[in-house]
Amino acid sequence: MVEITFYGGVGEIGGNKILLRDEDTKIFLDFGMSFNKRGLYFEEFLKPRTSNGIGDFLQMGLIPDISGIYRDDLLTHYGRKPETPDIQGVLLSHAHADHANYVSFLHEKIPIYCGKTCLSILEAVEEQSQRSIESEVLNYKKRPLFRRDYKKPAINRDIVTFHPCKSFKIDSLDIEPFPVDHSVPGAFGFIIHSSEGPIIYTGDMRLHGQHGQYTKEFVEKASEAKPIAMITEGTRINETKTDESEKKVYTDSKKIINKEKNVSIVDFNFKDLDRFQTFYQIAKDLDKQLVINFKHACFLERYHQDPFVEAPNSTDESISLLLPKRHTGTYNKEDYSDAYVKKRLDYPNIIQAEEIIKNPRKYMVVLNFWYFNMLIDLKPYHGTYIHSLSEPFNEEMEISYDRMKNWLNHFDLNLNQSHCSGHINGTDLKHVIQKIKPETLFPVHTKKPESFTSFHDNTVRVIQGKLYKL
Ligand SMILES: [Zn+2]
Repeated sequence: MVEITFYGGVGEIGGNKILLRDEDTKIFLDFGMSFNKRGLYFEEFLKPRTSNGIGDFLQMGLIPDISGIYRDDLLTHYGRKPETPDIQGVLLSHAHADHANYVSFLHEKIPIYCGKTCLSILEAVEEQSQRSIESEVLNYKKRPLFRRDYKKPAINRDIVTFHPCKSFKIDSLDIEPFPVDHSVPGAFGFIIHSSEGPIIYTGDMRLHGQHGQYTKEFVEKASEAKPIAMITEGTRINETKTDESEKKVYTDSKKIINKEKNVSIVDFNFKDLDRFQTFYQIAKDLDKQLVINFKHACFLERYHQDPFVEAPNSTDESISLLLPKRHTGTYNKEDYSDAYVKKRLDYPNIIQAEEIIKNPRKYMVVLNFWYFNMLIDLKPYHGTYIHSLSEPFNEEMEISYDRMKNWLNHFDLNLNQSHCSGHINGTDLKHVIQKIKPETLFPVHTKKPESFTSFHDNTVRVIQGKLYKL
């Protein structure tokens, strides 16, 4: 008997936490943060308290209240007894926060299974971000953390990496991991061989990116498996196919940047290596320098060392590293205390904003909205700004987007949108499901699960926390 319970990703985009039980084997498919649920109660200055252990997260429904999965220190801090871990593993599809981050709360004895590239990204995130109870995926320090405990070594999780297309076992389950195309490298879809038959889990995927072929091959294998069930993402189920592609982002953006006589500012997600490659190629083709920040360098260096992906090093001749102003504002070496900046201060390709001002046409600066105060140093008057991210889709994002436009207006920067989604469109997804022909379909990671019933007769309208038997 196989049982599936969905503790996240139900009626929402992301936050996947899917418990699969086959006799005595229990695994989670992803254990991500739900931005949606978190945003219902919390915001920038109103956060769940670490001082209540796991309590605030349980009380507000950000994580499920089930036994045998959580860290001893967080349970006891909340006044509960420690529990023996009772699941055999967590299978991560990819390194996006809405699929991986809440591993933070899990007992260190529960092994985490992920691809090598996923691990590289999680390491890069850890290197450049401050320790937080909501993102301790690879290791953590016991709480409560008193000052005298700061230097104590962290507790490492048991991380097991798997290889593309090489099956592996978690207890009694045989799992086949297949690379899929998504807006982060190292994303996987799975065929899980249970005692009742094969189960497909797509993670997040698309067909229209640089590696659409991966997804096609996964779909082929999934179809051959004749699955009893398919758990599919459905982010864009109601969107029809358009001409979007990474190639189009390249062509459109190159045209805009080529015309620009001033500096070009571009914004895209660090983790998205395909998008990085697009702008890196444009910089090379137009004989410009791509300027990135130190956080971005943490990712690039790990990608460069990863045998499964292709990426230049952060010291590449077409790349410059922008030194931020800290403390005295004079670029003094003593101003930099963050380990990830300090470690790179001797790089030969570090530049300061003043050099970009002298020769603005030579540069394409990668600058995320959260670092827009650096525009004050860059003085990019009358230049171009390319927003290579999805357009705002909720109220909070709208507010930030309006604020972004104010900055652009202030510097008379020209706003351009050039992007393709990380998720499969509805037209493609419908074809994929019709090809795989699962006996039962479980749409997750979607706000419109009802849209699947029109083309698959046995679609389950998933209810959070309900146990489904196969
Ligand atoms: Zn994703």
